Amino acid sequence: MYDSEYLKKLSEIDSIVEKPYLSNDPEEAKPEEHPAEEEASSGVFAKLKAGLSKTRKNLVYGLDTVFGAYADLNDEFFEDLEEQLIMADVGVHTTEEVLDELRSMVKDERIRSTGDCRAALARLVASRMSVPEDAYSFEKGPSVVLVIGVNGVGKTTYCGKLASALKKQGRKVIMAAADTFRAAATEQLIMWGDRAGVDVISGQEGSDPASVIYDALHAARARHADILICDTAGRLNNKKNLMNELDKIDRIISRELPDYKRENLIVLDATTGQNAMSQARDFAEVSDITGIVLTKMDGTAKGGIAIAIASELSVPVKFIGVGEGVDDILRFDPASFAQAMFEGVSDEQI
Ligand code: GDP
Repeated sequence: MYDSEYLKKLSEIDSIVEKPYLSNDPEEAKPEEHPAEEEASSGVFAKLKAGLSKTRKNLVYGLDTVFGAYADLNDEFFEDLEEQLIMADVGVHTTEEVLDELRSMVKDERIRSTGDCRAALARLVASRMSVPEDAYSFEKGPSVVLVIGVNGVGKTTYCGKLASALKKQGRKVIMAAADTFRAAATEQLIMWGDRAGVDVISGQEGSDPASVIYDALHAARARHADILICDTAGRLNNKKNLMNELDKIDRIISRELPDYKRENLIVLDATTGQNAMSQARDFAEVSDITGIVLTKMDGTAKGGIAIAIASELSVPVKFIGVGEGVDDILRFDPASFAQAMFEGVSDEQI
C-alpha cells in the first residue's frame, strides 16, 4: 500500500477539481442569493449520490420493492422494511429504534400512504444523525487536528484531502507525518502535501512520533498556520502502547499550543461494516474523539452503516470519503445523506 505502486496510483488519480465539499454552514450556502453556489451545491449532491451509488442500488431498489408492494402500512410491511434496513447494514439496534419511531409517527401523524411513510422515514433518519452547528469551527483555526484510526482505513488520504480543501479556502495549513513506523507512510503524506501545496513536517523512520508532533507544533506557531493536521500511526494491536502514545501527543499539544482548538478525528472504513463501530469504541477508550470520518462509502453496498454509526456512537460523523481523488471528501450533511439514501423524497419533505 505504501510502495511505489501506491505512489504511482496516487499520481494518476483524478487531477484536483475545484468543488466545495458539501456544506451545512448557512453562511456558506445561500442558494437563492447565489445561483453559482446553488449550481455547486447541486453538483455536490450529485457527487454524494454518485459516491453512494452501490448502497443506493442495494437500499433504494429494496425500498422501492417494499414501498411498492404494500397499499397498507401493516405489520408485514414493517417486517419487510426491517429486513431491507438490516441488509443495508443499518444494524439491528438502530433499525429497531428507527422502526419503533416510524410506527409512532405513522400513528400520531395519521400517515396512510407509503409515499408519506417513506418521507417520514428519511426525516427521522436525518434527525438521528444530527451534526452540531460548531462541528466545523476548527476549520477556521487556529487548530490542531489529530487524525487517528487503524492501518489502511484512509487516514493519510483524508489528511491530504482535508489539507487540500482547506488550502483552497485560503487557510494556511501544515501537516505532520507522525506515522514514523513506516517510511512509506511519510513519503505518501509528503506526496499529498506536494499536490496540495502544503508543507509537511516529518521525521526519520522509527523516530518518536511525539517528537515529530513537537516539531510540527513549533512550525505551526512560527509560520502562523491556521490548521495543523497530524497523521498518526494506526497500531491498535497493543492498546497500552497506543494509549501511552496518544496520551503523550495529547499532553504535548496542550502544553505547546494551549490556545489552539483541538479536533480528534477517528477515521473508519465503511466497507468494514460493524467492525468500524467496534474500532470507534476501542479508540474512544484511549482518546477524546470529537468527530468521525467515514471513508470508502463509494466502495460499499452497505452504506447504512453510516446511519448506525451516527446514531449509536455519541460522536458526530463529520466527513465521508467517496473516492480516492483529492476532492472525494464531503462534509456529512444528514438531510442530504438521508435524501440520497431514500430517493424519491424531496428536499422540502425532510
Ligand atoms: P491509512 O493507512 O489509514 O493512512 O490509509 P491510506 O490513506 O493509505 O488509505 C488506504 C487505501 O484506501 C488507499 O488505497 C486509498 O486510496 C484508499 N482510500 C482512502 N479513502 C478512500 C475513499 O473514500 N474511497 C476509496 N474508494 N478509497 C479510499
